[in-house]
Amino acid sequence: MVESRVIFITGAGSGIGFDTACRFIKTGATVIACDRDVLGLQKLEQFSQREGKIVEILPLDLLDVPSFNLAEDAVRKYGHLDVLVNCAGICSGTPLDQITIEEWDRTYAVNVKGPFFLTIRLLPFLKAGNQPTIINISSMAGFTGGIKSNPAYSSSKAALTCMTKNLAKFCAPFGIRVNEVSPGTARTAMVENWLDENEIQKFILQIPMGRLAEADDISRVIVFLASKDAGFITGQTIHVNGGMYIP
Ligand code: NAP
Repeated sequence: MVESRVIFITGAGSGIGFDTACRFIKTGATVIACDRDVLGLQKLEQFSQREGKIVEILPLDLLDVPSFNLAEDAVRKYGHLDVLVNCAGICSGTPLDQITIEEWDRTYAVNVKGPFFLTIRLLPFLKAGNQPTIINISSMAGFTGGIKSNPAYSSSKAALTCMTKNLAKFCAPFGIRVNEVSPGTARTAMVENWLDENEIQKFILQIPMGRLAEADDISRVIVFLASKDAGFITGQTIHVNGGMYIP
């Protein structure tokens, strides 16, 4: 069953999205890997070749909503979509009082507006899918306010959490489940760009399980949410943070 599934993943060129794409590729699913990072997508293509599998790469910028017709075209070929993973996101370490209007708008455009309109454009294909499901990647920051108090990022992720709930209610009558995975701090390019190793070590002291998340801690939960085993779960957040935030 897994082999015939069509999976669309944003942010598939790096970090959590890359690892998630690799995991689905290994199952033999048809993966449409979307990112603005073309080099990252090429690395994913090399991975799939080594595995003897095929991945379809789709360079796309979530800031460019009109270009989402390319995403529709990519999915239309298969006639349906089974899993949409909205993983791409941006975060900066800009101090609260130095955030510009441009940074605020860009953060919301990538983290909330892009995922929303991409989802709406792909909804007709999900309605035709087999046990279709949408998985958004939110953040512990959306629940706690974040580490460095960048409200553009944390509030955009809180908005994504709310959107997950709206979509879950809207999509349930069509048999589409909508959930989110909320990572704590994961060792990916995003974190390594704004925390140095010294800060990371101090940060780890606050995590009960004593380490950062790895990308595969998150991707395994994404694959679970996409599976039959999660068939009656919708509108939920699964927190993956080593106990740092316990709701
Ligand atoms: P990452 O390694 O930076 O991967 C994010 C990917 O999204 C990158 O390839 C990035 O491309 C791409 N992207 C950014 N803006 C885009 C746009 N406008 N259009 C298309 N693609 C775009 O980060 P990650 O840690 O894997 O993060 C994945 C998700 O997890 C994000 O939504 C993030 O907010 C969430 N998250 C991460 C952590 C963490 O600690 N890592 C914690 C909580 C939540 P570029 O490289 O070109 O920017």
